[in-house]
Amino acid sequence: MPWSNYHQHCYFCDGTDEPSLYVESALEKGVRSFGFSSHAPMALEVPWSIKPHRFTEYLQTIADIRNRYRGQLPVFIGLEIDYIPGVTSPARPEFAQLDYNIGSVHYGYRHPNEGWYWEIDGTQQAYDRGILEIYGGDIKKAVTSYFTLQQEMIQVAPPQVLGHMDKVKMNNNNRHFSEDEPWYRQLVYDTLEVAAAAGILIEINTRGVYKKKTQYPYPSPFVLQRIKELNIPIVLNSDAHHPREITGYFTEAADMLQQIGFTELNILTPDGWQPRPFTKEGIAF
Ligand SMILES: [Zn+2]
Ligand SMILES: [Zn+2]
Repeated sequence: MPWSNYHQHCYFCDGTDEPSLYVESALEKGVRSFGFSSHAPMALEVPWSIKPHRFTEYLQTIADIRNRYRGQLPVFIGLEIDYIPGVTSPARPEFAQLDYNIGSVHYGYRHPNEGWYWEIDGTQQAYDRGILEIYGGDIKKAVTSYFTLQQEMIQVAPPQVLGHMDKVKMNNNNRHFSEDEPWYRQLVYDTLEVAAAAGILIEINTRGVYKKKTQYPYPSPFVLQRIKELNIPIVLNSDAHHPREITGYFTEAADMLQQIGFTELNILTPDGWQPRPFTKEGIAF
């Protein structure tokens, strides 16, 4: 079906396969506009991002693929860039040459003595340990830091697309807090106000659902309702780490978006992001 997807991880970061296999799979699935967004290289050593010495090779490989598939599928070169104060952000000059970027927060604050960060989307054990040892067990403090970092990123280093904006819910799994609690909703609403003022897009990210980690895509339905009220433009992404995941849960997500009242999804074109009508059958290109 005619979809787009700009959130893909291939073997340059923590995805499984070489990039051309993703493009072949996208073509089979009817995808009409496509982008790679490996985790951006940074000085902090983590197992999931592009190693700094391979960054040039990444850009060259995707550029070659774009040329090879010209006329069949538009392929854009992007990155998913972390916001870690003092370490990295979407505003780094070496990322200015990209077709697009996704800004995502995967880390909360740093342990004051030991130097490690609160990991949002690692294991549940790492999530719980960070809450306990960095935030003294105060879940409100931890979640507030997550949304504060997103707001800061949008204000000082705005990405084109805000990635999986409520990923903090994944490892919570309704254990530490409920998304119905007023303090939580206020943090989300404040972040949306900042995003609306900055004029950035927000992604609807289906990975949590097809990986069976969350009931709903990121962000949750109550967030989507406010996004709609604020007229913030959206883009549908699957955050694929394997070629088979490229359109994972898209039909169901599009159906839900329509029911909430959305009528347009954004696609990337040589002239920038543009809205297009959609149904659960796909996007009208
Ligand atoms: Zn991410
Ligand atoms: Zn990702």
